[in-house]
Amino acid sequence: MGKNLVIIGGGAAGPSTAAEAKRNDPSLNITILERGKFVSYAS
Ligand SMILES: Cc1cc2nc3c(=O)[nH]c(=O)nc-3n(C[C@H](O)[C@H](O)[C@H](O)COP(=O)(O)OP(=O)(O)OC[C@H]3O[C@@H](n4cnc5c(N)ncnc54)[C@H](O)[C@@H]3O)c2cc1C
Repeated sequence: MGKNLVIIGGGAAGPSTAAEAKRNDPSLNITILERGKFVSYAS
């Protein structure tokens, strides 16, 4: 079982951080907590 990473904030920085962390360690279990209704997206 991989390590857990909790990221506070689902704006631009949060998902970018998650993607980079996953690239560095694919076994990570990542949870992003966003207080708003929407998370960041890009086309
Ligand atoms: C009016 C305006 C226009 C802009 N236009 C552009 C543009 O055209 N192009 C561009 O590249 N940049 C633009 N920017 C800049 C861009 O919005 C920011 O650089 C970028 O959003 C920063 O991302 P961030 O993830 O650091 O912060 P944020 O986008 O602020 O994301 C932080 C997230 O964390 C969440 N959060 C905070 N506290 C908690 C908590 N306790 N628990 C859970 N979630 C929490 C918030 O809800 C938020 O969704 C603009 C900014 C503004 C204000």
